[in-house]
Amino acid sequence: MLSIISPLYNERDNVRPLYQAVVAALDGVGRPYELILVNDGSTDGTADELAALAATDPRLKVINFRRNHGQTAAMMAGIDAASGEILIPLDGDLQNDPADIPALLAKLEEGYDVVSGWRFNRQDAALRRNLPSRIANWLISRISGVHLHDYGCSLKAYRREVLEGVRLYGEMHRFVPIYASWQGARVTELPVRHHPRRFGQSKYGLERIGKVLLDLMLVKFMGDFTTKPIYVFGAAGLFSLALGVLSFLYACGLKLFEGVSFILTPLPLLSVFATLMGMMFVLLGFLAEMLVRVYYEAQGKPTYLIRDSINFDRPGQPGRS
Ligand code: UDP
Ligand code: MG
Repeated sequence: MLSIISPLYNERDNVRPLYQAVVAALDGVGRPYELILVNDGSTDGTADELAALAATDPRLKVINFRRNHGQTAAMMAGIDAASGEILIPLDGDLQNDPADIPALLAKLEEGYDVVSGWRFNRQDAALRRNLPSRIANWLISRISGVHLHDYGCSLKAYRREVLEGVRLYGEMHRFVPIYASWQGARVTELPVRHHPRRFGQSKYGLERIGKVLLDLMLVKFMGDFTTKPIYVFGAAGLFSLALGVLSFLYACGLKLFEGVSFILTPLPLLSVFATLMGMMFVLLGFLAEMLVRVYYEAQGKPTYLIRDSINFDRPGQPGRS
């Protein structure tokens, strides 16, 4: 059984073409499948389109959120509700092409646990989207040690085991192959098609890159969740301590040997103060973010609120966790 999962936020005009493209792509595959469409609090009539379509095909399962929670939360809801052994997320605006699904499946069949799409001819704004994402991809590759060309591509294929116990936050759906690889999963990459958007608008701009990079650092820190943060904070603390002591000694030296007294002039004070405060705030941010995540994990709380769902049969679905 395959579970195809797509988040939708104000994608009214894409619902039907998406459904048709998925059906067309999977009819030849000869495996049972479900298409889970998660309506992430749309306000444009996406819900009505979904309800009308779902009434005609029980393989189309719908989850309606109470409000907009973001693409990752929507994807998580789809994952939580999926009953397939293979999970395939893709964007709901047809920028990803469902026709690539059979090729992804073939790769899994070769023995991989994760197949990650690579938008080799990405059809988004060059300067605003493609360039920043190239830089981000390079950084992610360097920092994670898991080398892919295009982490941000939504179209991927997972064996279910890989996602067991994984909770996704922020921009983290792109890091699943990294997590999986760290856990020993066999991860590979496959060039996939990418189309310009035909209906509706992109929900993202340049601001996304900052979120992605913060999440990357967090993922790195949380790699060994229970022990690492203390080392990270400890190292940063020692570093700033050393900086403080050295700059103090330097100022003393200048005073003793050169007769220069700027120990109490505003500039060095300001720079030391600013450096320390900056570090404190960055680290506080991480700490707070981790706390939030620990809170969700400990409570087993989903990171989204469901209003209703259509065509789910098993009790407890959707949102089993
Ligand atoms: N999306 C969502 N919730 C949001 C923003 C986006 O479910 O808050 C969905 C959106 O409907 C689309 C996918 O996530 O199916 C990718 O979004 P978009 O096409 O805007 O991103 P881009 O392709 O420009 O990176
Ligand atoms: Mg898109």
